Amino acid sequence: MQDCIFCKIIKGEIPCKKVYEDEDVLAFHDINPSAPIHFLLIPKKHLVSLAEAQPEDTPLLGKMLALVPQLAKEQGCQNGFRVVINTGRDGGQEVGHLHIHVMGGPQPWPRRS
Ligand code: 5GP
Ligand code: ZN
Repeated sequence: MQDCIFCKIIKGEIPCKKVYEDEDVLAFHDINPSAPIHFLLIPKKHLVSLAEAQPEDTPLLGKMLALVPQLAKEQGCQNGFRVVINTGRDGGQEVGHLHIHVMGGPQPWPRRS
């Protein structure tokens, strides 16, 4: 997708602080973190949102969820983490490329302005 910022990050056209990458997914630090540790895990395939995912995407979604605990641990989440998937306008989704927010680190976390 030409105008998708996350597709541009995948292509290396926009820089990111990479956490993990393989043939299917990319993880990178959120540019405006809501927690001491806050990264995004995205599929390399341009999926608009969880609501648009198709049955054939189920293995990819499963792989992504299964990766989260490992990546969270590697990033230093020692006492748990929060997973959020904002979906659609009422879900507060701002970037139209499916992404899993993974947030962790010691509480309390800063509030967004
Ligand atoms: P959403 O509200 O769509 O669930 O979250 C989008 C997230 O992407 C936000 O937390 C925002 O800070 C992050 N974000 C938006 N643009 C960029 C960017 O260019 N680079 C990085 N690393 N994160 C971004
Ligand atoms: Zn995209």
